[in-house]
Amino acid sequence: MQPRRWQQAWREAVRDPRELLVLLGLEALAARVPAEAAAQFPLRVPRGFVARMRRGDPADPLLRQVLPLDEELLPVPGFGLDAVGDAAARAAAGVIRKYRGRALLVATGSCAVHCRYCFRRHFPYAEETAAAAGWRGAVDAIAADPAIDEVILSGGDPLSLATPKLAELTAALARRAPHLRRLRLHTRLPVVLPERVDAELAGWLATVPWPVAVVVHTNHANEFDPAVDAAMARLRAAGATLLNQAVLLRGVNDSADALAALSERGFAAGVLPYYLHQLDRVAGAAHFEVDDARALALHAALRERLSGYLVPKLVREVAGDASKRPL
Ligand SMILES: *Cc1c(COP(=O)(O)O)cnc(C)c1O
Ligand code: SF4
Repeated sequence: MQPRRWQQAWREAVRDPRELLVLLGLEALAARVPAEAAAQFPLRVPRGFVARMRRGDPADPLLRQVLPLDEELLPVPGFGLDAVGDAAARAAAGVIRKYRGRALLVATGSCAVHCRYCFRRHFPYAEETAAAAGWRGAVDAIAADPAIDEVILSGGDPLSLATPKLAELTAALARRAPHLRRLRLHTRLPVVLPERVDAELAGWLATVPWPVAVVVHTNHANEFDPAVDAAMARLRAAGATLLNQAVLLRGVNDSADALAALSERGFAAGVLPYYLHQLDRVAGAAHFEVDDARALALHAALRERLSGYLVPKLVREVAGDASKRPL
């Protein structure tokens, strides 16, 4: 079969840090981009996302999210490998059961973009994806537990799977888990590779038998452009409710101006803010951390200047808690 247009764009993503620096006119930064950091978690960024970065600006908020830097190699106490207790909450291959009513599927290990702050950078994907073996273990686990009313597709990025593979899952769930009431997707693809939201994807979303929430992950207003707006419009036309989850990141969005602009720009694209996460304390990401006092001050500033519905909930994930913990 012909690869789909989004699959082609995916394959053409930038993977070589030197190429990225050349594209942005930042060759001088090369000394701060050690091969070892890129080897631990390789660079990957679609060209459409690179096009939204400012040329010649080493502090660009989109660049900072994807560029491997020497800071990542410094060991920092308190920053470890399983920052959020996923290993303990595993219910079946690729199924994480942490919160009441919700089962999260690690649908796949792959992502179209590699975010340097991501807690999944150390996750043992290969043996843990729910899509392996035709989703069998995941569907069995959900079918066997009537207390689950919402399935959350996460990853990795669930939209990195081809649409027929996703449709195979929802058809099996519709058949075998009549207790389900909602479907949720956590994905960065509509933002980093808006081509992914094609007619085939919209057709699938429009026909699943549950209301659908799509939680997109954007951290900065500059991640939106007309192609992203069009992708969001297609998701909404398919009936999805769009929410945004951001991570508070030093040097990316740690100012009231940046956070307010993110909420406002998202809303213009039909996306409501949902969560603003404190960083998971994962090895290699310490240089992104914003301390709690500053996080709370930024959140208070947002409450003062934005409509209530444009203020995300400021939370942190704590292993063993029954929900995300408000700061
Ligand atoms: C974050 C998370 C959820 C969803 O939590 P909400 O507060 O409903 O957004 C579900 N399962 C796991 C394992 C999670 O980490
Ligand atoms: S799981 Fe999400 S945040 Fe992590 S690397 Fe993939 S796209 Fe980025």
